[in-house]
Order: sequence, then C-alpha cells, then structure tokens
Amino acid sequence: MAFNLYYYESKMICNYCKKEYSTYKVRPGRYKVIAQDTDFMPIYEGINPLLYEVAVCPHCGYAYHKSMTRTYGPFMLLIGEIYINQLQKIMNLCKERTIDEAIASYKLAYLVARASMEETIILANFALKIAWLYRLKQDKELEMRYLRSARELFNKSHANNKEGEERMQYLIAEISLRLGDIEEAKRGFSRLITSREVSNKYRNYARKRWEEYKYENQAVKEQEG
Ligand SMILES: [Zn+2]
Repeated sequence: MAFNLYYYESKMICNYCKKEYSTYKVRPGRYKVIAQDTDFMPIYEGINPLLYEVAVCPHCGYAYHKSMTRTYGPFMLLIGEIYINQLQKIMNLCKERTIDEAIASYKLAYLVARASMEETIILANFALKIAWLYRLKQDKELEMRYLRSARELFNKSHANNKEGEERMQYLIAEISLRLGDIEEAKRGFSRLITSREVSNKYRNYARKRWEEYKYENQAVKEQEG
C-alpha cells in the first residue's frame, strides 16, 4: 500500500471466519487528548481515534472491540446464529471513516456483544460511545437517546472492581444530569460525595460537577429573575 500520513493498517484475523484483513488505525502522533468532557469523553486534537476502535471484518461482517471477552468457541456459534445470519449486507469499514460509519461500527459491535451475551457493562460502554459520536455530530436527539440506553444498561451492570463501580455510579449521576433528571443526578452525586467508602478521585469529580451545575443553574435563575 502507499504510505499514509495519518493512518496505519492494522492486521486482523477475524475471530469468526478466520480470514485476514487489515483496518485503519490512527497513527499515534496524529492525535492528542486535550481535555475531557464531564462524562469522560476524551476531547482530541487531530484525528479522533475513537472512530477506529471497532474492527469490522469485510468478509463476514463480524465486529470486534478490544473490550470483548466472548470471542471464541461456543460464543462464536451464538454470534453466527444470532448476528452473522441476520446481517443484511456486509459493510466495508476498513479505510477512513465518517462519524456515521464509526457509529455503524459500534452498532455492529453492540449486536455482536449482545449475541454472545457479553457483560452488560460492555454494552453500556458501547451505548455511551455511540452517544459521544452523536455529540460530535451535534445530533442532540440521538445523543440523548443513546445516553438514556447507556444509563439503563449501567443501572443493570456490575463492575469488576471498586474503581469500575465508582466510575459507573458517577456516570449514572452525570448522564441523569444531562438527561435533565435532576433528582436522580442529585441522589447519585450526593451518595458519591458523602460516602466514606468512595475514593477521593470520584468524590472530587462528583463534588466539582454538582457544584458546577448548581452554580450554572443559579446564574440562569438570576438572569431570569
Ligand atoms: Zn470474518
């Protein structure tokens, strides 16, 4: 292939059909994290690597994300039956992607993960990332729809460790705030702020976010006043 300044080709062997393919990944020097949104969406300068996280096999349509664990043996039978056999068409998402194509890749990964009965938290994180991509597209309505599904899924999830559990509790409160469900947000943030068990990291995130919200809300009220 010709040398590409922005991407390199990552070689993959499909877990499902076992065929080889290569898919674009952003070259490490082509992006930089410059900030983080309040729901942990990284803000990048340069090309957004989030768009290239899911690899989609151009031969059979199987979609793979590194967070998946049920990628072998009996799970592949489920994926074959529930996902591969139902696919209407196989998209080629191996080169440069638009935001819409990136969204499509996560939706395929979501379907694969659901077919193989991955842990709910994996599905929740996919829904959250789809919401982020709609935010980048400035499609508020679909962003909210996916934030709502993410919250529902996080509510049904179990994290594997304390850090993961706190991240999840924070996200449920944060997403509630974004959805305008202030009571739920307040409950969630207060729990994080007042519980002795919570690490400083998440207590501080929660305190900062809740104070910021109250301050902004106060400013709006005064303006309207
Ligand atoms: Zn394949």
